[in-house]
Amino acid sequence: MARKQEQEPAREEITEVARGILRMELPIRMPGLGHVNMYALLDDRGATLVDPGLPGPATRKAIRERLHQAGLAPRHVHTVVVTHSHPDHFGGAAYLARETGAEVVAHRSFRFGVLESRPEPEVSVDDLAAQAQADEDVDPEPGDVQTHRRAIERWNHRTPWGGEHPKPGLRTRLKWRAARWLGRSFIPVVTRPVVQGERLKLAGREWQVTHTPGHTEDHICLHDADEGIFLAGDHVLPTITPHISGLSLSKDPLDNFFASLDRVAAIPGVQLCLPAHGHPFEDLAARCEAIKRHHYERLERVKAIGRELGPATVQAFSHKLFKPRSWGGMAESETYAHLEHLRQGGEATCHRDGRGRLIYETG
Ligand SMILES: [Zn+2]
Repeated sequence: MARKQEQEPAREEITEVARGILRMELPIRMPGLGHVNMYALLDDRGATLVDPGLPGPATRKAIRERLHQAGLAPRHVHTVVVTHSHPDHFGGAAYLARETGAEVVAHRSFRFGVLESRPEPEVSVDDLAAQAQADEDVDPEPGDVQTHRRAIERWNHRTPWGGEHPKPGLRTRLKWRAARWLGRSFIPVVTRPVVQGERLKLAGREWQVTHTPGHTEDHICLHDADEGIFLAGDHVLPTITPHISGLSLSKDPLDNFFASLDRVAAIPGVQLCLPAHGHPFEDLAARCEAIKRHHYERLERVKAIGRELGPATVQAFSHKLFKPRSWGGMAESETYAHLEHLRQGGEATCHRDGRGRLIYETG
């Protein structure tokens, strides 16, 4: 099978994709992904970096090398934008903030470890409590944080559909704990929380924040209306569809994702879409449509599986929907999102069995 763009290994060369915007590829090794695009937005104050890769020394080295190639050093970085709370996007942010005092921009609901899981699935409750504490400093709605924390505590033990929650190994958890004790947590503190519609001045342009919940609840995209440039994060990727997690505070995460695709497809005048993985592309609205179509096909497939299986667990559905190499927490989570979407639309029903598992039936 041909390799997808998103799987290509990171190239060292940097490309200017628009005036003052450089695409820099950082190496990552995750299922289905070979690189993450870190975009450098240049202005007379220095640079903003969007999505600075995974945590760890390899990323730090790659960031320094790429900046050097562009005639820059870490000290020139005044802002880091994180499109969403996955480690391949925020990994270098805490490092850059420590080194350079860079401002960290992310959605107000930015949280790591809650909504899903790759490659490090879930952080412990106290990691999250620490993060929630940081949030409380900037979030005027502590009630939300409380609800969130309770949900997290529940999910740390069981998933909503009654499966085992994926957790990282003991070594990883100890490493994270040690990092936190040393004040070197890789989870960045968001110093500039943003919401839908907010405007940011970066690279001598004005960008509008578009909140696009779906892949994660805290996902944002940035849009420069003057030149029609759209920074898409993982919301819209050129040839793969982003994972949709069922582990969400939202009742119908798939529906949220559809609404976010519509919101983005309706933006007029987009000329260039800059995704976090894969190559820049032009027709954003068409790509949004194709991704929706993919999910409608998946929903049909889920209904067909239901007819074949009769009443079944989320895991059983996921084993029919995904190939064996993808089985596990993520596949179940996405299957659950699809089943819940059907249920909310009256096309499926569910109940809990004696072991606390959700059993779904599609008509
Ligand atoms: Zn990603």
